[in-house]
Amino acid sequence: MSSVNSVNNFQNYSNLQNFQSRQNKNAVTFGQYSEPVGGKDEPKPEKAVLALLLLQLAASGLEKASRWCGDKLMAGKEFAPAQDVVKVAQRMVGDNKLNVDVQFVNPHNIRKFPEALRDSLVKVARGENAFYNDAFKLAVAPEKKPSLILHELGHAINSTKGKLLKFMQKSRIYKAYVPTAVLMATQMADESGIKSDFIKNNAGIIGFLSFLPTILEEGLASLRGIKAAKNVLGKAANLKPLKRNYLAAWLTYLIAGLGVGVASKMAVLSGGNPNNK
Ligand SMILES: [Zn+2]
Repeated sequence: MSSVNSVNNFQNYSNLQNFQSRQNKNAVTFGQYSEPVGGKDEPKPEKAVLALLLLQLAASGLEKASRWCGDKLMAGKEFAPAQDVVKVAQRMVGDNKLNVDVQFVNPHNIRKFPEALRDSLVKVARGENAFYNDAFKLAVAPEKKPSLILHELGHAINSTKGKLLKFMQKSRIYKAYVPTAVLMATQMADESGIKSDFIKNNAGIIGFLSFLPTILEEGLASLRGIKAAKNVLGKAANLKPLKRNYLAAWLTYLIAGLGVGVASKMAVLSGGNPNNK
């Protein structure tokens, strides 16, 4: 699920700023962004500065919203007793012929897992994360929050459903590079004489769209978990807490996508001015 780490999504800005200050030596830093120091012939940057301020505000608003969703998820109740969750998990594995080891982690059993995974398992043991690892064919959830496993098994099922879903699952690794990539695309377009206005004007939506595969794949993983719970436990089960928890987790991904959009727009506004070349 990794949603608890979503706050990290917003730390990309600082990396971005470092990149830009390296790009533009002729700059003073003001708050978190660089403002070009222009000669008389350069356009006044007030408009860009105002836009950047607003985007900075939006970014911190998104960060707060993400933390709020993360807290909701942490405080969320389990929808069913652990043995019912295990029953659903077993059915998901069986019905989909998954070759996946399903484990519930507590502080005492971390040592039995491969060493490469132990750092990430500490958070799982604390109840702060859950994950599916495709390389290790392992799905883990906290022992105290077993219901997270149904979402992780949703990922495991997605990974068996063809190349597109598999790509969508892995595409998140590019997220941190998107704003810089959008900025570089505008600079390369400028340098080769191609009009870069389209990229500049749509940097926000381009950034968001780059994260959309992740948002969709996360939602699909949750829907698979909810559907399996409904099928196995029947109408008697109260799925509302499960749906609420999964919605909170999904919102952190939606917010992260908006964050990539905001960061991309900021990158272009603060570093993509062709007059700065
Ligand atoms: Zn997930």
